[in-house]
Amino acid sequence: MKDRENMEKKDVFGLSLEALQDLLGTYGFKKFRAKQVFEWIYKKSVFEFSKMKNISKDDINLLEENFTILPANIKILREQISSDKLTRKVLIELPDGNSIETVLMSHDYGFSVCISSQVGCNMGCAFCASGLTGFVRNLSQAEILLQVYYFNQHLLPSGGFVSRVVVMGSGEPLLNFDAVLGALEFLHMETTLNMSYRNMTISTCGIIPGIEKLVIKKLPINLAISLHSARDDMRSELMPINKTYPFLEVIKAADAYAKATGRQVTYEYILIANKNDTLLDAELLSNALRFKNSSVNLIPANPVEEKGFKRPSPHTVERFLQVLKKNNINATVRREMGKDIDAACGQLRSKFIGKNS
Ligand code: SAH
Repeated sequence: MKDRENMEKKDVFGLSLEALQDLLGTYGFKKFRAKQVFEWIYKKSVFEFSKMKNISKDDINLLEENFTILPANIKILREQISSDKLTRKVLIELPDGNSIETVLMSHDYGFSVCISSQVGCNMGCAFCASGLTGFVRNLSQAEILLQVYYFNQHLLPSGGFVSRVVVMGSGEPLLNFDAVLGALEFLHMETTLNMSYRNMTISTCGIIPGIEKLVIKKLPINLAISLHSARDDMRSELMPINKTYPFLEVIKAADAYAKATGRQVTYEYILIANKNDTLLDAELLSNALRFKNSSVNLIPANPVEEKGFKRPSPHTVERFLQVLKKNNINATVRREMGKDIDAACGQLRSKFIGKNS
């Protein structure tokens, strides 16, 4: 019953101040009242009208009768905390019953959140769990913001807040361009989290038109490209999108982005045993990135049971890294977080769906 009532109410989460003022205005609320609501939500992470202390009882009743605030309208289906307590992953159920994964990571410099941009994914990357259950739909701007604000509220009692966002969860962000960019622009506003674009990262499998749109935006957002192979045949096998957007052209587009924004592009490279981890692969990767303003993030693969992929030995990883270094390519091996909690994209959701369908 409560769910049905809520469906009939209008959700105000993610509306700009002006849009909120217009909407509440039609219910007789003054602009300053809407501004107070806006501040409670985006400055204080308060998502219940009844907790907005400077608003009168009558106004609270009117607000509750007509509106909802998305973060108060979700369920946490699962929560996993890594044994070192540094990574916390949640499976969030949205009001329409779909679920998404979001991960909070604590670093010595603060908290970052890895957010999903779509429910499921249709890129079909061979090593990735997100696509196992297929593509369902794009997330709205509000649903993207929700993931950051959920954790902001969670951190509030201890005085913490989310200072970085990586759009590296399930889904392909550049195929949901407007909602993703809208959410990042929202987080950047002084009236919300005032988050620097330099603290935001978008990770893409290489959607060239999306990269070109980012170039036009010219915001200093970090761009990460999931490369995973510098050999056309192997990359097409691992990432079918390579047949539409071949990696050399992706690198060209990403380089234009680096030049337009001054930001170094990160190339992610999952090392999968006996697939893309040879010395030749390392040389080809070096050639593709030579003289580019870029760095390489090597990620020993998170094994995904269903896919039969394994990670190479530490020795093989080190050998790959040394070839890149010898060729003057900036490269690091990603510090692993949350390996014991299925932190690789989509693993929690696909396990959950697998058990509950
Ligand atoms: N679609 C976007 C963002 C989601 S994937 C993209 O492709 O970049 C985020 C990152 O996690 C990508 O680099 C992806 O290749 C990586 N990833 C997916 N499955 C993985 C696995 N099993 N082990 C390690 N990294 C994985």
